[in-house]
Amino acid sequence: MKPPPDISREAWQIHEHSIVIDLHADTLFLVFMFGYRMGARHRNPFPRSPFIYHVDIPRLREGGVTAIGLTAPVIPLNILRRRGSVLRAIQKVDRWAGTMRTQLVMARSGADILKAREKGVPAFFLTLEGAHGVRGELEEIEAFKRHGLVSIGLAHLTRSPKAYPNRRARWRERRLPEAGYALIEKMEATGLIVDLAHVASRSFLDAVEFCKKPPIVSHTGFQSMKPMWRNISDYEAKRVAKKDGVLGVVFHPGYLTRSRNRSLDCVIENIRFLLKTVGDDFVALGSDFDGWVPSMPTDMGDVSYLPRLTDRMLRDGIPVDSIRKILGGNAMRVIREVCDGLPGRDEMTPRPAE
Ligand SMILES: [Zn+2]
Repeated sequence: MKPPPDISREAWQIHEHSIVIDLHADTLFLVFMFGYRMGARHRNPFPRSPFIYHVDIPRLREGGVTAIGLTAPVIPLNILRRRGSVLRAIQKVDRWAGTMRTQLVMARSGADILKAREKGVPAFFLTLEGAHGVRGELEEIEAFKRHGLVSIGLAHLTRSPKAYPNRRARWRERRLPEAGYALIEKMEATGLIVDLAHVASRSFLDAVEFCKKPPIVSHTGFQSMKPMWRNISDYEAKRVAKKDGVLGVVFHPGYLTRSRNRSLDCVIENIRFLLKTVGDDFVALGSDFDGWVPSMPTDMGDVSYLPRLTDRMLRDGIPVDSIRKILGGNAMRVIREVCDGLPGRDEMTPRPAE
């Protein structure tokens, strides 16, 4: 592919030869609820690219994306997730993916992602945001896995029986419910990734300590950069790193910075903060594209602009090796360890400080 006009040749080469993984986008809601055509190129007409129109296949290609995590189109409210509705949504995506195969591969493992990459086809992996409607029996979780689910986020904006979300201050100190522990146990036994995005602080820490496999926080900001309900503390970030998990930096500037500069600078600042706080083995990307957030960085309106992030990291002096890990190497490591059952990080490599 041709490099985008406004980035250096070196940055494009790094980007093109890296595994690039975005851990979280909500595009499937558009596909299944509004008939959005994944194969057509779309454009968000507004200057700060709010809400939707961030992802489609042509722009995944332009953005050099190897794989993107797409959330199953099932609304995270207990009342709307009646018996069987989560599995039905997963099956629906599985069937749809069968019809898209030549343009977009549904990956169930790290090996699938690598295979798609060899063929030059972008991949997506299916995620679930909020464990609402998940009953938690082993057979159910196994059926999710069989139909291609890769991760479950324990919480979203409203309470589920599995975890307290971080949206309300009064939930902050609530312990992880028994059902949350049971779900994690079954997910790990089945090879599903535990996603702690949106989980309230005390439940979050309970879950991290309980995890035997690396958890992820698929799309998040950080309290130290912007104190707000949506973001995690340094301690939470460090505990995830301690378990070899990864932290997907969200792209919405409103979660990333207190400053008025709403450009990619704020994404870079958050990446820099993580490099300092947990080290380069635990940083990943979790855009929240098509997630109805009020804005994207002014110079990164959609997924096709991702090479700009590589260019900015390079110009900012972040080492090439770290850039490649952040772009997708780290996310791939977790996917391979949890979903493919491959051995984890070498026990001999240094861990981040407590
Ligand atoms: Zn979310």
